[in-house]
Amino acid sequence: FHVPVATNEPVKSYAPGTPEREEVLNTYKELYNTKMEVPLYIGSEEIKTGDTATMHPPHDHKHDLGVYHKASKNHVEKAIEESLKAREKWADLEWEQRAAVFLKAADLIAGPYRARINAATMIGQSKNIYQAEIDSACELCDFLRFNVEYMSQIYDEQPESSEGNWNRVEYRPLEGFVYAVTPFNFTAIAGNLPSSAALMGNVAIWKPSDSQVFSAQVIMEVFKEAGVPDGVINMVMGDPQMITDVILDSPDFAGIHYTGSTTVFKNIWAEIGNNIHKYKSYPRIVGETGGKDFIVAHPTANPKQVATAISRGAFEFQGQKCSAASRVYLPKSLWAEIKDFVVEDVKSFKMGSPEDMSNFITAVIHEGSFDKLAKYIDQAKNDEESEIIVGGNYDKSEGYFVEPTVILTTNPLYETMCTELFGPVVTIYLYEDDKWDETLQLVDDNVYGLTGAIFSGDRYEAAKATKELQNSAGNFYINDKPTGAVVGQQPFGGARASGTNDKAGSKLNLLRWVSPRLIKETF
Ligand code: GLU
Repeated sequence: FHVPVATNEPVKSYAPGTPEREEVLNTYKELYNTKMEVPLYIGSEEIKTGDTATMHPPHDHKHDLGVYHKASKNHVEKAIEESLKAREKWADLEWEQRAAVFLKAADLIAGPYRARINAATMIGQSKNIYQAEIDSACELCDFLRFNVEYMSQIYDEQPESSEGNWNRVEYRPLEGFVYAVTPFNFTAIAGNLPSSAALMGNVAIWKPSDSQVFSAQVIMEVFKEAGVPDGVINMVMGDPQMITDVILDSPDFAGIHYTGSTTVFKNIWAEIGNNIHKYKSYPRIVGETGGKDFIVAHPTANPKQVATAISRGAFEFQGQKCSAASRVYLPKSLWAEIKDFVVEDVKSFKMGSPEDMSNFITAVIHEGSFDKLAKYIDQAKNDEESEIIVGGNYDKSEGYFVEPTVILTTNPLYETMCTELFGPVVTIYLYEDDKWDETLQLVDDNVYGLTGAIFSGDRYEAAKATKELQNSAGNFYINDKPTGAVVGQQPFGGARASGTNDKAGSKLNLLRWVSPRLIKETF
């Protein structure tokens, strides 16, 4: 059995007059006006508990999209039970059969479900169509297909045998179940975290973010239609702390696949530590967390290239990417030119509902995020050591709209140079041209280590910065923006407070979901 060689799903254009544009707009309208009712998926059951929360599009928060049902403690316990029951057969299935299920899921997303998953992401997470296409359709297909290829490479890796000794490795799934906790910002990550563990023969209990349930429902529809057996991936929503407490209390808890905030991940890690005597095995802890991603330009950098990286790296996807550029270090000599380019580009961005496809910027995810961004913007307006270069307005009367905002500061340790904001706000610090070495120190002096970009026309300086900043970013870009990692090309993840760096969409990641058994047979 040879798995197909994975290739990246081509991104469709959605240009005016194309059939895909028409289809996604029609699906958008239909979904917008259907009151969805998202159940819990536990074993073979779709459970409507009656304890519900209402869903709203972030760009139109008075509009009612329907509800999702919330789990009680008993439901979470039932999900554990059902997952362990499903494990008995799923873990024993030939890996080729598990591969077939997830390859089918990829084909469903690329084909019949493409418009539905894109429209659900546009509505529920306020992404424009291009962001939805890159994230929910293409990246999710890529994760599913590349993971199958990586899995086949893992199973192919076998030790040497010698005369009379026959050695082989069995890549067994973990003994227990995996807890997948996923963020609002990428539909692809939401689909990848439970499915990558399941592909390796595990069963999963998946808790999507409250703000992503609208598209999570479509992912479950796809998994079901692709033939993921009942109980292999269970989806539960509700009080996150209660769900986590019940999960982490189980002796069969075998691992967590997490993407989200640093604080929550650290709390979960501590709770796992406190419960460690309960578990049958040491749980696998895999997480991608926060970032304070940088752009640093050497005086030999190309100003236009740097400016594009700032405006695109900071503001695409409303800056709601773990990888988004949020602190920038520029030499004074290049500032005037870079500033003009950035201001011009940012002013060309149209902001509004994703239904109007000419809008580049849409709303941020919820009121909590909006209020936090507004607070930092106001502070930057009033502080002596900062000024707003472009943007700075916000309005939540209809949707949570925050203008793409550039702050300039004279303090390299200014609050918005250090704190993760997770929105369309970037802060720039200008350094004296002869202070390059000190600037690299400043860049490195940060608790996070997710992504970063260095711009330089001088090959030796680029090489020096690459070395000096070796721990500052798990994804390091030379002369390109620090965002837009593509599965199969730039495996993604970082260290320090940014995560365990088990690179989503890689062999390294999949190896965390198996517990190899070496069998030596003498004959
Ligand atoms: N992989 C995405 C990128 O490189 C970011 C993923 C995230 O925000 O977690 O842009």
